[in-house]
Amino acid sequence: MDKQTEFVLRAIEERDVRFVRMWFTDVLGFLKSVAIAPAELEGAFSEGIGFDGSAIEGFARVYESDMVLRPDPSTFQVLPWRDSKPATARMFCDITMPDNSPSYADPRYVLKRSLKKAADLGFTFYTHPEVEFFLFKDPLDPDKGPVPVDQSGYFDHTAQSVGSDFRRKAITMLEQMGISVEFSHHEGAPGQQEIDLRYADALSMADNIMTFRVVVKEVALSQGIHASFMPKPFTEWPGSGMHTHMSLFEGDNNAFYDGSAENHLSKVARHFIAGLLRHAGEITAVTNQWVNSYKRLAGGGEAPSYICWGRNNRSALVRVPMYKPHKGASARIELRSIDSAANPYLAFALMLSAGLAGINGEYELPEGAEDDVWSLTERERRALGIKPLPRNLYEAVAIMEQSELVAETLGDHVFDFFMRNKRAEFEDYRRQVTPMELKQLLPVL
Ligand code: GLN
Ligand code: MG
Ligand code: MG
Ligand code: MG
Repeated sequence: MDKQTEFVLRAIEERDVRFVRMWFTDVLGFLKSVAIAPAELEGAFSEGIGFDGSAIEGFARVYESDMVLRPDPSTFQVLPWRDSKPATARMFCDITMPDNSPSYADPRYVLKRSLKKAADLGFTFYTHPEVEFFLFKDPLDPDKGPVPVDQSGYFDHTAQSVGSDFRRKAITMLEQMGISVEFSHHEGAPGQQEIDLRYADALSMADNIMTFRVVVKEVALSQGIHASFMPKPFTEWPGSGMHTHMSLFEGDNNAFYDGSAENHLSKVARHFIAGLLRHAGEITAVTNQWVNSYKRLAGGGEAPSYICWGRNNRSALVRVPMYKPHKGASARIELRSIDSAANPYLAFALMLSAGLAGINGEYELPEGAEDDVWSLTERERRALGIKPLPRNLYEAVAIMEQSELVAETLGDHVFDFFMRNKRAEFEDYRRQVTPMELKQLLPVL
């Protein structure tokens, strides 16, 4: 038995843990959980827990539905929103086939495969997300539309506000689960919040994001309100992005930093950005996976619509934050398209693959855009070589379908399932007669 496994077994006794939840994530990014009794744990570590994969979205073909959950002891945490006596804990799981080979449908495995490619080049991939979401009043009635808990705006601080109480409690709970928070504030829209996590390696961070979503929803419910990560709940207000800052490290050194280069950006960083830009259209179906995601990207609200990069340019897809001398040899880049409803495992795997393709192919970085790219004319954008992001889920899937990079990174099974599922979502959507059409056409036609 290794040290981590021993630690888990001891913690279970000492903290009176009665339920251990095995957590894993389906292809669309929904968290799944099965609780086991502590007595089953040793067996779970040595042989895994069998389950029927065909019941999980995107997992198995009917003829090979047996799958096995393998808990990762390094992810053991007691859940702070449950009672402490007896307590409930959780571990994230890897998924294997009965013959012990990794499951082709496990998003965590997809990310691990990409991380391995980076490791073979000597790189560790770090990410830090700024997670935006809304707080809504109870009841949440999809027919009437959500009602935000407040009418505040960006960075507002009001006395006794629901939002700041909420953030304090959520952050305390995240910290109890080993997830460090760097910033938090009210975002631009009524009821909209942002919590920024301290950077971590991409696998831990993807796990952290899954945990974050549960914590935020639990804390909201405990306060009689609802949290939502829906990308664009209101036509007239900005949506919820999950801007993600990225860097590659070689050992202790930030490989994106070069003190003598322009913007302190190394060659590796410039190639990485070039990779992100060249493959941006191909990965958008995953970073922005819902019909609703594209309403956020439709222009304005500080969400990107065009493929370009810039220093401190908030209309750009990739932003290079200002260099901060007090942070020493540090450099990072920010992808601003990804939203809070993406599957973080698949999205991080693709963001990394796109960046690595830029490094391996030594892609040249085009000129940065220092203008507000929304205010340019179509013609000016074309002259600058600035292309649009996919305008809807249909376009995004069509571009993804042509992408070798995405097929290879996701693997055939996830790639095919994902496209089939997303095409079906778009077909459902395109049949809908919307309030907008009724309002516009009934009076005149
Ligand atoms: N909510 C904006 C988005 O959707 C971001 C706002 C900000 O953080 N500056 O991307
Ligand atoms: Mg922010
Ligand atoms: Mg923000
Ligand atoms: Mg940001």
